[in-house]
Amino acid sequence: MYEDKRAAVFERKVKVFNDVYKNTRKSYSKITKLLYDEIINTPGVIDQFKQAKDAGPEKQKNIRLSLYKLLIPTYESLKSINIRQLHFHLPNVSSFLRFHKPEKYGDSLVGIRHSLEIVNKEKRYVEGFEEGRIYNGFRYVYPLFDEEKRHIGSVETSLSFKALSNDIEETLGDEIDFILKKSIVERKVWEDEKSHYIMSHINHSYMHEKGDEYIPIMYKYQQINQSISKEVTQKMQNQKGFCISKEKTTVTFIPISNVEGDKNAAYLISYENCEEISSIEKDALTLLVISTLILLILSMLIFVVLQKISKINEIATYDSLTGTYNRNTMNELLEYELERIERKQKPLSILYIDIDDFKPVNDKYGHEKGDFVLKKVVELMLQKLRKSDRLGRWGGEEFLVMLPETDEEEAVLVAEKLREVISMGDYAMPRELTCSFGVATYRDAEDLDSLIARADRYLYKAKKEGKNRVVSHF
Ligand code: GH3
Ligand code: MG
Ligand code: MG
Repeated sequence: MYEDKRAAVFERKVKVFNDVYKNTRKSYSKITKLLYDEIINTPGVIDQFKQAKDAGPEKQKNIRLSLYKLLIPTYESLKSINIRQLHFHLPNVSSFLRFHKPEKYGDSLVGIRHSLEIVNKEKRYVEGFEEGRIYNGFRYVYPLFDEEKRHIGSVETSLSFKALSNDIEETLGDEIDFILKKSIVERKVWEDEKSHYIMSHINHSYMHEKGDEYIPIMYKYQQINQSISKEVTQKMQNQKGFCISKEKTTVTFIPISNVEGDKNAAYLISYENCEEISSIEKDALTLLVISTLILLILSMLIFVVLQKISKINEIATYDSLTGTYNRNTMNELLEYELERIERKQKPLSILYIDIDDFKPVNDKYGHEKGDFVLKKVVELMLQKLRKSDRLGRWGGEEFLVMLPETDEEEAVLVAEKLREVISMGDYAMPRELTCSFGVATYRDAEDLDSLIARADRYLYKAKKEGKNRVVSHF
């Protein structure tokens, strides 16, 4: 949902940026057409320029000077609307007159200015982005002919990238920067002009133009540029426009192809404090925080409930003092076992155990000592019982042991073992401690109550006979 919204905003941003870029270029294209029709392609200019291609150096010099004087007011007007170059070339693609650098002429532009080669070879108008010896820019190049339609050279006006980006900046209200492919800059730009270019933090294969009169906004966005560098470099491989959002700033890239057909010879970059994206991100963040909180509270609740359940289970299952099974659990275990052994025709015995003269322990040594003794007795008995045996506290100082698959004889032996270990136990008190045992073995068709009642009766007998003993029948 959030991703979709964001992607839609990104897509729209790329489209708007692209449209504004194209329209800006188109408006300059119209201006240069007007310039060509109304000023350049007129007898005053053509008559002079047509002589240049066959003239000797001295005559060329005169033509150059005369053309310069004639068109310098036009050039000044062009500069005021950001058109930085007005450049005449001869049919052999050599520079004849650069209004931005009139002292530099005669150099061949073959291999440097593809646009000029096309115009002079194919004698047609060419428009597009192209790097040059000094400047990069958007070129508008017209072939020139004399009155007899003979080709006499070409004229170019061009717009700097900076000028174009300023115009886009005004239209969009964003801050616009641009980067140029480093390999092209290195190949084309004159050595002494290379200081006008600096490496980009966004992608090391690209450079920023550093004009004398302005500081590229790359410095302002240096941190953002560095942080998005990896993602940008990867996205540039698609050679399509894209958008990245970083710390409230939305950065949009559109590739600019050059005349030679390099699809991402340059990039226009817009930096915008995009409220829309920020608010979408804020909404998503709020949603994330809320859902995380809900999840956290929920899991805490579940945890508490689970803990409560396990506590309840514990309370319901075990005796809180001794940690062994309580009477309830013992009853359930016995019921279950009784059913099982009935089916399997196996013996089952129980031991009913009562601590002898326990009341005096409490009376003499205190209730705490009594509690300690109860725990100790359980501990000692558990040491002697098998894994399958079950020991539970039946009440007060009484215990019940269930011995599955144990007949009377074996059960008496177990009881004797328990009696012995209890009587030998160290209870940290100056008197001995013993227990009496009633042992009952399950008889066919007997129910649990009667089994326990029998064990209780044998226990009673053991008490009567003097305690500290095991009784298993009358
Ligand atoms: P007999 O040999 O005949 O069994 O005598 P007795 O003193 O052991 O039996 P009686 O039933 O008179 O006393 C049992 C005592 O066990 C009474 C009671 O205070 C004590 N008792 C029961 N439950 C607890 C307990 O959880 N902790 C402590 N410390 N004492 C308990
Ligand atoms: Mg008792
Ligand atoms: Mg007792």
